[in-house]
Amino acid sequence: MPESKLLSQLLNADLHCHSTVSDGTLEPETLAARAKAGGVELWALTDHDEIGGLARARAAALCEGLAWLSGCEISVTFAGTTVHIIGLGFDADDAALREGLARTRGGREARAREMAAGLAQVGIPGAFEGALPFVGNPELISRTHFARFLVERGYCADTGEVFRRYLTEGKPGFVPHRWASLGDAVRWIVQAGGVAVIAHPARYKFTPTEEYALFSEFKAHGGRGVEVVTGSHSAAEALKYGEMALEFDLLASRGSDFHSPDESRIDLGTLPDLPGALTPVWQALADQVQWPA
Ligand code: AMP
Ligand code: MN
Ligand code: MN
Ligand code: MN
Repeated sequence: MPESKLLSQLLNADLHCHSTVSDGTLEPETLAARAKAGGVELWALTDHDEIGGLARARAAALCEGLAWLSGCEISVTFAGTTVHIIGLGFDADDAALREGLARTRGGREARAREMAAGLAQVGIPGAFEGALPFVGNPELISRTHFARFLVERGYCADTGEVFRRYLTEGKPGFVPHRWASLGDAVRWIVQAGGVAVIAHPARYKFTPTEEYALFSEFKAHGGRGVEVVTGSHSAAEALKYGEMALEFDLLASRGSDFHSPDESRIDLGTLPDLPGALTPVWQALADQVQWPA
Protein backbone atom coordinates (compact mmCIF):
# COMPACT_ATOMS: atom_id res chain seq x y z
CA MET A 1 0.00 0.00 0.00
CA PRO A 2 1.42 3.44 -0.87
CA GLU A 3 1.79 5.75 2.15
CA SER A 4 -0.42 8.34 0.45
CA LYS A 5 -3.35 5.94 0.87
CA LEU A 6 -3.37 6.86 4.56
CA LEU A 7 -5.22 10.00 3.48
CA SER A 8 -8.01 7.95 1.98
CA GLN A 9 -11.28 7.29 3.67
CA LEU A 10 -11.55 4.10 1.63
CA LEU A 11 -8.45 2.49 3.13
CA ASN A 12 -9.33 -1.00 4.39
CA ALA A 13 -8.32 -0.36 7.99
CA ASP A 14 -9.30 -2.83 10.74
CA LEU A 15 -8.29 -1.28 14.05
CA HIS A 16 -10.06 -3.49 16.59
CA CYS A 17 -9.66 -7.23 17.22
CA HIS A 18 -8.63 -9.71 19.92
CA SER A 19 -6.13 -12.57 20.18
CA THR A 20 -5.49 -15.36 22.71
CA VAL A 21 -3.59 -12.71 24.70
CA SER A 22 -7.06 -11.53 25.83
CA ASP A 23 -10.38 -13.15 24.88
CA GLY A 24 -9.89 -14.01 21.20
CA THR A 25 -9.37 -17.60 20.08
CA LEU A 26 -6.65 -17.01 17.44
CA GLU A 27 -2.94 -16.32 17.99
CA PRO A 28 -1.63 -12.89 16.89
CA GLU A 29 0.13 -14.49 13.86
CA THR A 30 -3.06 -16.25 12.74
CA LEU A 31 -4.98 -12.98 13.03
CA ALA A 32 -2.40 -11.15 10.92
CA ALA A 33 -2.71 -13.78 8.19
CA ARG A 34 -6.51 -13.64 8.41
CA ALA A 35 -6.45 -9.83 8.19
CA LYS A 36 -4.28 -10.05 5.08
CA ALA A 37 -6.58 -12.66 3.52
CA GLY A 38 -9.58 -10.43 4.30
CA GLY A 39 -8.06 -7.54 2.37
CA VAL A 40 -6.99 -5.44 5.37
CA GLU A 41 -4.34 -2.84 4.53
CA LEU A 42 -3.81 -1.25 7.95
CA TRP A 43 -4.20 -3.44 11.02
CA ALA A 44 -4.12 -3.11 14.82
CA LEU A 45 -4.47 -5.82 17.46
CA THR A 46 -6.39 -4.36 20.43
CA ASP A 47 -6.42 -6.91 23.25
CA HIS A 48 -8.34 -5.99 26.41
CA ASP A 49 -6.13 -4.20 29.00
CA GLU A 50 -3.05 -5.91 27.58
CA ILE A 51 -0.25 -5.16 25.12
CA GLY A 52 1.64 -8.44 25.57
CA GLY A 53 0.75 -9.58 22.03
CA LEU A 54 1.95 -6.49 20.18
CA ALA A 55 5.52 -7.56 19.42
CA ARG A 56 4.20 -10.77 17.81
CA ALA A 57 1.43 -8.87 16.00
CA ARG A 58 3.88 -6.31 14.62
CA ALA A 59 6.34 -8.94 13.37
CA ALA A 60 3.55 -10.98 11.76
CA ALA A 61 1.90 -7.92 10.19
CA LEU A 62 5.09 -6.65 8.60
CA CYS A 63 5.87 -10.17 7.37
CA GLU A 64 2.38 -10.39 5.78
CA GLY A 65 2.85 -6.99 4.12
CA LEU A 66 0.35 -5.17 6.34
CA ALA A 67 0.82 -1.64 7.63
CA TRP A 68 0.53 -1.83 11.41
CA LEU A 69 -0.36 0.30 14.46
CA SER A 70 0.05 -0.53 18.14
CA GLY A 71 -3.31 -0.98 19.89
CA CYS A 72 -5.19 -1.96 23.02
CA GLU A 73 -8.75 -1.73 24.41
CA ILE A 74 -8.90 -0.40 27.97
CA SER A 75 -11.78 -1.24 30.35
CA VAL A 76 -13.12 1.91 32.02
CA THR A 77 -15.89 2.55 34.52
CA PHE A 78 -17.94 5.64 33.62
CA ALA A 79 -21.27 6.57 35.21
CA GLY A 80 -21.49 3.08 36.72
CA THR A 81 -21.13 1.40 33.31
CA THR A 82 -18.19 -0.37 31.66
CA VAL A 83 -16.96 1.62 28.67
CA HIS A 84 -14.13 0.56 26.37
CA ILE A 85 -11.47 3.00 25.18
CA ILE A 86 -9.23 1.99 22.26
CA GLY A 87 -5.66 3.26 22.19
CA LEU A 88 -3.86 3.41 18.83
CA GLY A 89 -0.32 4.32 17.80
CA PHE A 90 1.17 4.63 21.30
CA ASP A 91 4.69 3.69 22.42
CA ALA A 92 4.24 0.18 23.85
CA ASP A 93 7.31 0.66 26.08
CA ASP A 94 5.76 3.61 27.91
CA ALA A 95 6.12 2.88 31.65
CA ALA A 96 2.96 4.68 32.86
CA LEU A 97 0.82 2.97 30.22
CA ARG A 98 2.24 -0.46 31.06
CA GLU A 99 1.73 0.11 34.78
CA GLY A 100 -1.82 1.39 34.28
CA LEU A 101 -2.76 -1.63 32.16
CA ALA A 102 -1.24 -4.02 34.72
CA ARG A 103 -3.32 -2.34 37.45
CA THR A 104 -6.46 -2.57 35.29
CA ARG A 105 -5.87 -6.31 34.77
CA GLY A 106 -5.30 -6.90 38.50
CA GLY A 107 -8.42 -8.10 40.23
CA ARG A 108 -9.67 -10.14 37.28
CA GLU A 109 -8.87 -13.42 39.03
CA ALA A 110 -10.69 -12.49 42.26
CA ARG A 111 -13.63 -11.28 40.16
CA ALA A 112 -13.63 -14.58 38.25
CA ARG A 113 -13.75 -16.57 41.49
CA GLU A 114 -16.75 -14.52 42.60
CA MET A 115 -18.42 -15.09 39.23
CA ALA A 116 -17.89 -18.85 39.68
CA ALA A 117 -19.41 -18.69 43.18
CA GLY A 118 -22.49 -16.96 41.75
CA LEU A 119 -22.83 -19.58 39.02
CA ALA A 120 -22.39 -22.42 41.56
CA GLN A 121 -25.40 -21.06 43.45
CA VAL A 122 -27.61 -21.60 40.41
CA GLY A 123 -26.37 -25.13 39.80
CA ILE A 124 -23.27 -24.58 37.65
CA PRO A 125 -20.35 -25.88 39.72
CA GLY A 126 -16.65 -25.66 38.82
CA ALA A 127 -16.91 -22.69 36.45
CA PHE A 128 -13.59 -21.13 37.50
CA GLU A 129 -11.64 -24.33 36.83
CA GLY A 130 -13.80 -24.96 33.77
CA ALA A 131 -13.06 -21.57 32.24
CA LEU A 132 -9.29 -21.84 32.75
CA PRO A 133 -8.57 -24.15 29.79
CA PHE A 134 -10.04 -21.42 27.55
CA VAL A 135 -7.78 -18.73 29.01
CA GLY A 136 -4.66 -17.92 26.99
CA ASN A 137 -3.27 -15.34 29.45
CA PRO A 138 -3.63 -16.04 33.19
CA GLU A 139 -3.89 -12.30 33.90
CA LEU A 140 -6.79 -11.94 31.54
CA ILE A 141 -9.59 -14.25 32.58
CA SER A 142 -12.75 -12.65 31.19
CA ARG A 143 -16.46 -13.26 30.97
CA THR A 144 -15.90 -14.57 27.45
CA HIS A 145 -13.91 -17.53 28.82
CA PHE A 146 -16.76 -18.41 31.20
CA ALA A 147 -19.18 -18.13 28.28
CA ARG A 148 -17.16 -20.63 26.23
CA PHE A 149 -17.12 -23.07 29.17
CA LEU A 150 -20.91 -22.85 29.60
CA VAL A 151 -21.45 -23.47 25.88
CA GLU A 152 -19.03 -26.42 25.90
CA ARG A 153 -20.99 -27.99 28.81
CA GLY A 154 -24.31 -27.48 27.05
CA TYR A 155 -25.79 -24.96 29.49
CA CYS A 156 -26.42 -22.60 26.56
CA ALA A 157 -26.43 -22.85 22.78
CA ASP A 158 -24.03 -19.95 22.17
CA THR A 159 -22.03 -17.28 24.02
CA GLY A 160 -24.68 -14.63 23.37
CA GLU A 161 -27.21 -16.73 25.30
CA VAL A 162 -24.71 -17.16 28.17
CA PHE A 163 -24.30 -13.38 28.46
CA ARG A 164 -28.08 -12.83 28.40
CA ARG A 165 -28.86 -15.49 31.00
CA TYR A 166 -25.81 -15.46 33.28
CA LEU A 167 -23.18 -12.79 32.76
CA THR A 168 -24.86 -9.39 32.50
CA GLU A 169 -26.02 -7.04 35.24
CA GLY A 170 -28.52 -8.66 37.59
CA LYS A 171 -27.70 -12.20 36.40
CA PRO A 172 -26.14 -14.84 38.69
CA GLY A 173 -22.60 -14.80 37.24
CA PHE A 174 -22.30 -11.02 37.02
CA VAL A 175 -19.88 -9.34 39.43
CA PRO A 176 -19.67 -5.54 39.30
CA HIS A 177 -16.07 -4.49 38.85
CA ARG A 178 -14.31 -1.14 39.08
CA TRP A 179 -12.04 -0.64 36.06
CA ALA A 180 -9.79 2.35 35.18
CA SER A 181 -11.19 5.89 35.23
CA LEU A 182 -11.91 7.55 31.88
CA GLY A 183 -9.31 10.25 32.55
CA ASP A 184 -6.58 7.78 33.47
CA ALA A 185 -7.17 5.57 30.43
CA VAL A 186 -7.14 8.50 28.01
CA ARG A 187 -4.03 9.99 29.65
CA TRP A 188 -2.10 6.70 29.54
CA ILE A 189 -2.73 6.51 25.79
CA VAL A 190 -2.13 10.18 24.99
CA GLN A 191 1.01 10.52 27.11
CA ALA A 192 2.42 7.43 25.37
CA GLY A 193 2.00 9.30 22.05
CA GLY A 194 -1.21 7.56 20.95
CA VAL A 195 -4.76 8.49 19.99
CA ALA A 196 -7.68 7.50 22.27
CA VAL A 197 -10.94 6.34 20.65
CA ILE A 198 -14.34 5.54 22.23
CA ALA A 199 -15.07 1.91 21.28
CA HIS A 200 -18.51 0.77 19.97
CA PRO A 201 -20.53 3.66 21.52
CA ALA A 202 -23.90 2.12 20.59
CA ARG A 203 -23.24 -0.79 22.96
CA TYR A 204 -23.63 1.30 26.13
CA LYS A 205 -27.07 1.72 27.64
CA PHE A 206 -26.64 5.42 28.36
CA THR A 207 -29.32 8.08 28.51
CA PRO A 208 -28.69 10.95 26.06
CA THR A 209 -27.42 13.04 29.00
CA GLU A 210 -24.94 10.36 30.09
CA GLU A 211 -23.80 9.85 26.50
CA TYR A 212 -23.24 13.58 26.09
CA ALA A 213 -21.22 13.55 29.34
CA LEU A 214 -19.11 10.63 28.08
CA PHE A 215 -18.27 12.38 24.80
CA SER A 216 -17.57 15.78 26.43
CA GLU A 217 -15.46 14.41 29.29
CA PHE A 218 -13.59 12.12 26.90
CA LYS A 219 -12.68 15.16 24.78
CA ALA A 220 -11.77 17.23 27.84
CA HIS A 221 -9.30 14.50 28.88
CA GLY A 222 -7.66 14.58 25.44
CA GLY A 223 -9.61 11.85 23.62
CA ARG A 224 -9.74 12.37 19.84
CA GLY A 225 -11.67 9.58 18.15
CA VAL A 226 -14.82 7.46 18.09
CA GLU A 227 -15.46 4.08 16.52
CA VAL A 228 -18.15 4.68 13.92
CA VAL A 229 -18.03 1.49 11.84
CA THR A 230 -17.63 -1.63 13.97
CA GLY A 231 -18.88 -5.22 14.09
CA SER A 232 -21.44 -4.38 16.77
CA HIS A 233 -23.01 -1.34 15.01
CA SER A 234 -25.94 -1.45 12.63
CA ALA A 235 -25.90 0.82 9.57
CA ALA A 236 -28.20 3.24 11.41
CA GLU A 237 -25.87 3.29 14.43
CA ALA A 238 -22.88 3.99 12.18
CA LEU A 239 -24.75 6.97 10.77
CA LYS A 240 -25.72 8.21 14.22
CA TYR A 241 -22.16 8.03 15.56
CA GLY A 242 -20.82 9.52 12.33
CA GLU A 243 -22.98 12.55 13.14
CA MET A 244 -21.74 12.53 16.74
CA ALA A 245 -18.15 12.48 15.42
CA LEU A 246 -18.90 15.63 13.42
CA GLU A 247 -20.73 17.28 16.33
CA PHE A 248 -17.83 16.64 18.74
CA ASP A 249 -15.12 17.14 16.12
CA LEU A 250 -13.77 13.59 16.60
CA LEU A 251 -11.82 11.39 14.21
CA ALA A 252 -13.67 8.30 12.97
CA SER A 253 -12.39 4.76 13.46
CA ARG A 254 -13.29 1.43 11.90
CA GLY A 255 -12.71 -2.04 13.40
CA SER A 256 -14.39 -5.42 13.32
CA ASP A 257 -13.95 -6.34 17.04
CA PHE A 258 -13.22 -9.84 15.72
CA HIS A 259 -12.80 -12.45 18.49
CA SER A 260 -13.22 -15.88 16.91
CA PRO A 261 -14.27 -17.53 13.63
CA ASP A 262 -17.00 -19.34 15.60
CA GLU A 263 -18.39 -16.31 17.42
CA SER A 264 -17.81 -13.15 15.42
CA ARG A 265 -20.40 -12.12 12.85
CA ILE A 266 -18.03 -9.77 11.07
CA ASP A 267 -14.68 -11.01 9.83
CA LEU A 268 -11.48 -8.98 9.63
CA GLY A 269 -11.54 -6.53 6.72
CA THR A 270 -15.20 -7.02 5.76
CA LEU A 271 -16.77 -3.91 7.32
CA PRO A 272 -18.55 -1.18 5.33
CA ASP A 273 -16.60 2.02 4.62
CA LEU A 274 -16.83 5.01 6.92
CA PRO A 275 -19.77 7.29 6.09
CA GLY A 276 -18.77 10.36 4.03
CA ALA A 277 -17.50 13.67 5.44
CA LEU A 278 -15.71 12.06 8.39
CA THR A 279 -11.97 12.35 9.00
CA PRO A 280 -10.52 8.84 9.43
CA VAL A 281 -8.41 8.34 12.56
CA TRP A 282 -5.54 6.93 10.45
CA GLN A 283 -4.94 10.39 8.94
CA ALA A 284 -3.81 11.52 12.41
CA LEU A 285 -1.62 8.45 12.91
CA ALA A 286 0.63 8.72 9.85
CA ASP A 287 3.77 9.13 11.97
CA GLN A 288 2.97 6.09 14.11
CA VAL A 289 2.18 3.60 11.32
CA GLN A 290 4.87 0.94 10.81
CA TRP A 291 5.33 -0.07 7.20
CA PRO A 292 6.35 -3.46 5.78
CA ALA A 293 9.66 -3.52 3.93
P1 AMP B 1 -14.97 -8.72 30.61
O1 AMP B 1 -13.86 -7.79 30.18
O2 AMP B 1 -14.48 -9.91 31.37
O3 AMP B 1 -16.10 -8.00 31.32
O4 AMP B 1 -15.60 -9.33 29.28
C1 AMP B 1 -16.08 -8.45 28.28
C2 AMP B 1 -16.12 -9.19 26.94
O5 AMP B 1 -17.24 -10.04 26.91
C3 AMP B 1 -16.32 -8.26 25.75
O6 AMP B 1 -15.11 -7.72 25.32
C4 AMP B 1 -16.90 -9.19 24.73
O7 AMP B 1 -15.86 -9.92 24.11
C5 AMP B 1 -17.72 -10.15 25.56
N1 AMP B 1 -19.15 -9.81 25.58
C6 AMP B 1 -19.75 -8.81 26.25
N2 AMP B 1 -21.09 -8.83 26.04
C7 AMP B 1 -21.34 -9.88 25.22
C8 AMP B 1 -22.52 -10.44 24.62
N3 AMP B 1 -23.72 -9.93 24.86
N4 AMP B 1 -22.36 -11.52 23.82
C9 AMP B 1 -21.15 -12.06 23.59
N5 AMP B 1 -20.00 -11.57 24.10
C10 AMP B 1 -20.09 -10.50 24.90
MN1 MN C 1 -13.82 -9.15 24.22
MN1 MN D 1 -15.24 -3.76 23.69
MN1 MN E 1 -13.14 -5.44 21.57
